[in-house]
Amino acid sequence: MIPSANVCNAAKQHAVDCYPQESCGLVIRGEYIPCHNLADNPEKDFSISPSEFEQRGGFSVVEAVIHSHPNAMPAPSLSDMTAQERMPNVPWGIVGVDQHGRTSDFVWFGDCLPVVPLIGRVYVHGVHDCYTLVRDCFRVGKAGLADPAMMNCQPVNDWPYDPITLPLGPRDKDWWLKGGNMYEEGLKSAGFTRIDPTDIRVGDGLLFSLYPPGWHGERHLNHAAVYIGKGLMLHHPWAPQDRNAFRCLSRREPCNSWMQTHPVVVRYTPC
Ligand SMILES: [Zn+2]
Repeated sequence: MIPSANVCNAAKQHAVDCYPQESCGLVIRGEYIPCHNLADNPEKDFSISPSEFEQRGGFSVVEAVIHSHPNAMPAPSLSDMTAQERMPNVPWGIVGVDQHGRTSDFVWFGDCLPVVPLIGRVYVHGVHDCYTLVRDCFRVGKAGLADPAMMNCQPVNDWPYDPITLPLGPRDKDWWLKGGNMYEEGLKSAGFTRIDPTDIRVGDGLLFSLYPPGWHGERHLNHAAVYIGKGLMLHHPWAPQDRNAFRCLSRREPCNSWMQTHPVVVRYTPC
């Protein structure tokens, strides 16, 4: 559950007070508990001492973990995602803060939170991005895809799979510009195999290489979509450096022009 407005306001004030360092705190029994940030580089990272958890009653009483991102988007880093994955029943919240004491809205993440509708999500890397959209299709399964509320009133009634939890895939923003190859390397272990694109059916994945103009580095698969039938795919594109979130909503879209880029088509076929 996402903490109350009082908790969020207390955590925001803590973020302002700690600037330019990252603030960090725990939510216990509905209250925000500010913690000391013991990270080596507290302007870029945070760390809460295990003894601080113990003093408060241990990991089991923690209802949420909160930290700030000074002068940065409130999107989880690779280390944030990795650490949250180790406490799967606890949501994490991030608030952005700047030098003028202005704070962003909170971004909350963690599989313990409800899956939000699959259409019309605003892009937040690591929380609502192309992979989390694909992963959430598999998480909600056939009942979720057939739910009009999940699909903006146009349900998909022939999704073939019951709910499946794909790997969380902790990742940094722009992982693919730093030589990362998450999709290619993770396919097999996530249970997917390549298929002939002419054989595509509902529930198959599409993997694309999308790069900014002028990119001369090594190309990897860096964008994912799912085929939802009738010539449509569901995906969450991202426009580099584009602050206009309207252009970055998750959506269904005809596949035709996208197929001309020769995506890799994959099917969930666990052994
Ligand atoms: Zn962080």
